Amino acid sequence: MLPEGLTTGAVLLNDKNTQLSHDPIGTDATSPRIVPRDEHVISRANISPGALKVLYRLKEAGYQAFLVGGAVRDLLLSTTPKDFDVATNAHPDQVKQLFRNCRLIGRRFHLAHVRFGYEIVEVATFRAAHTTIDEDNSVDEAGHRVLDDRGRILRDNLYGTIEEDVWRRDFTANALYYNIEDFSVWDYVGGYVDARDKVLRLIGDPETRYREDPVRMLRAVRFAAKLGFTIHPDSAAPIPKLAHMLDSVPPARLFDEINKLFLSGCAVAAFDLLQHFGLTEHLLPDVAVALKESPRSPAAQLLRLGLQGTDERVRADKSVTPTFLFAVLLWPALRRAYDRVPHAEDAIIPDLLETCDLVTLRQQKRIAVPKRFTMPMRDIIALQPRFERSDGKRALRLLDHPRFRAAYDLLLLRAAAGEIPQELADWWTQIQEMPAEERQQRIAQPQQSDPAQPGQPAAPSSGGRRRRRRRPPRA
Ligand code: ATP
Ligand code: MG
Repeated sequence: MLPEGLTTGAVLLNDKNTQLSHDPIGTDATSPRIVPRDEHVISRANISPGALKVLYRLKEAGYQAFLVGGAVRDLLLSTTPKDFDVATNAHPDQVKQLFRNCRLIGRRFHLAHVRFGYEIVEVATFRAAHTTIDEDNSVDEAGHRVLDDRGRILRDNLYGTIEEDVWRRDFTANALYYNIEDFSVWDYVGGYVDARDKVLRLIGDPETRYREDPVRMLRAVRFAAKLGFTIHPDSAAPIPKLAHMLDSVPPARLFDEINKLFLSGCAVAAFDLLQHFGLTEHLLPDVAVALKESPRSPAAQLLRLGLQGTDERVRADKSVTPTFLFAVLLWPALRRAYDRVPHAEDAIIPDLLETCDLVTLRQQKRIAVPKRFTMPMRDIIALQPRFERSDGKRALRLLDHPRFRAAYDLLLLRAAAGEIPQELADWWTQIQEMPAEERQQRIAQPQQSDPAQPGQPAAPSSGGRRRRRRRPPRA
């Protein structure tokens, strides 16, 4: 059952899934259900050459080697995996000895990365039972490894067996193991049936698993949005109540998760689920307030259109950046803060920059967006008023600005969202398409629309030459 107040559960529930029963085989940690090669669709032809090399070399050296995680899930669903993860009983040092192109990573070097050109295959040693996940999504070694005063390992119970490894994974569909020995799939937790039925079900008690690592709530949203999985009602129910636990997740980790969530071609669906579960207010608090206050504002429209555009670009294999993504995501918060007070005409750009810095600073407390993205985002936003009062040479200069293209894309969104007149965006579209000579003539004429017309929402517009005069805020 979903908690009260969540009525738009169509994406989360359907009759089939509420009645899902678990296959009795595969729920016992010591005896997996083994699906032989001739009963599943995973073919080596769809596994990357790098991952295959790693699997085979581990096997030839006498170790167990399995493909794990999202790759097995995706291959079962006949979709292309994003990356290939390998699990083995070889220790990281032993993995390193097998591959020249191998680097041990993580704060405590317990993961191996094997590189083949652009491809990196992550090799993890099976974890012992009861290892917890630390803030880097790696296993916290405290309490699992005892060293003597010279740093030598006295006791090491960090690593374990496949039977132990399976329980630390998040969803059943992410806990399938493809065995390179005989190409079978090992399933300890009923993940094979769940993957087939596209059900996301946390392994173990859902509330405990979210408390252990609140990012699992975002992972549930991501897999539901991206793969069209249904979150099982038992795994969905605790999310609204535990959403606040995202407040304790390090902002740098949230930045990584937000990128995965919004730059994987499913941004609109992901955003709807975040809103549905009450997660937005713990990720983008100022945006959540703005959207609650005016759900149909042009800024809210812009956010949605921006995410749609991002999804289209990802599907068309075009580049997407956190810079533009955060300009779009933060727009409702920015508008709300900016529109609260009137702005003197010659103070519009400085005021806009000040607001942008303030909104960004507040946002950084939740999601650490690196400066290399917030600085160009600031430029894109500050260029907006210049579109509205550019004539003659100023228009030409704007066309040459290094961030013109991204700023123009934002302008198009503002027009589509009804924040500025469409003619203004059209004027900039046409001027770019014209031959240089014609462009010179055209910019000598005034722009067709006057954005300062009464009745228009107070769009950030550029200053004239009048002296700055700040009016008191409206009551
Ligand atoms: P993607 O398609 O995005 O790569 P994935 O399921 O492979 O999805 P990864 O982040 O690559 O996700 O992680 C690989 C595997 O590690 C997961 O399938 C899961 O078994 C395990 N895992 C990752 N993050 C967590 C977590 N926070 N809690 C528990 N298990 C996790
Ligand atoms: Mg993966």
